[in-house]
Amino acid sequence: MPRNQSTAAQRARAAQHATGAKYTAALREATMAGTSPTVFSLRDLLAECTTSPEWTGDHPEVDAEWAPRMFDSALLGGPVPHNSILQLTGYLAATGLSAEMTMESRDGFHTVVVAGGGRRFELVLSQDDWVAELCLTPGCERYPVAANLIPFCEDRHLTERSGSELAEMARMWGSDRLQEFERTPAAAHSGDQGDALIAAAVVQGAFSKVAAELVEGSFPDPDLIDDIFPGEATAVRHAMDNEHLLLKERARSAAVRIRKLAGGLCVCGTRLFLAPEADVPARYCSARCASSAGDPTVGRPARR
Ligand SMILES: [Zn+2]
Ligand SMILES: [Zn+2]
Repeated sequence: MPRNQSTAAQRARAAQHATGAKYTAALREATMAGTSPTVFSLRDLLAECTTSPEWTGDHPEVDAEWAPRMFDSALLGGPVPHNSILQLTGYLAATGLSAEMTMESRDGFHTVVVAGGGRRFELVLSQDDWVAELCLTPGCERYPVAANLIPFCEDRHLTERSGSELAEMARMWGSDRLQEFERTPAAAHSGDQGDALIAAAVVQGAFSKVAAELVEGSFPDPDLIDDIFPGEATAVRHAMDNEHLLLKERARSAAVRIRKLAGGLCVCGTRLFLAPEADVPARYCSARCASSAGDPTVGRPARR
């Protein structure tokens, strides 16, 4: 067996543990100004779904023959499809029925956004069982890079996470890849999701540790692999080197894009020149400039 023997559920729980606390804090912050959202458990929601009678009103968005079967939910502010609650329960199975949940928002008969177990989901109210996981940042309508393993949207909120958070996500993603390529270890790679992490790492000046987590996590230890796949050690070593080179290339293109956006100059007026391996945020010419600029998105947990 490879060194990583954790199950998907264990990994999911670890990820939820890592991100759940942050989510609760972020949600509290986001809702501080308004009234606090009602908290209920997944068990409450499931009980409501299984005991409420079918809602018999006319769905304002879809013809009666296409309308989903719904029940009038007190917890979710109006009718919701039975099936989407069952599907949601499936997504949150690893978290358990006691998972704390809140309704983040509801848009009439279009969508409802619920948060629970350190994750956010959008239920489409005109479909029978349309449940999509959303970026973890409260209020964001984009999809995450990789559900609960890289739970932020690529374009905006992933790039706002700190270097150490990105490294932790890279570790989780690497462990997932290791399992995915369990039978063909030399074919492992970190994929588009790895690229998204690398691009965010370049913003934060955290290329080295994120790349190391991705490469070391995605492949089995070459020193141990001969016991499992005799003769594969060389191929695995080669694949690891190759993956590292690819990540470096992607980091360099990401740095070029960021410098272009910054007009090629650091805030101090110096031309931007450092390679991502220098682990300085790509918008700055030096670590000193990055920290004295006091950029809130660099080197500390981000706010929305
Ligand atoms: Zn987002
Ligand atoms: Zn500078």
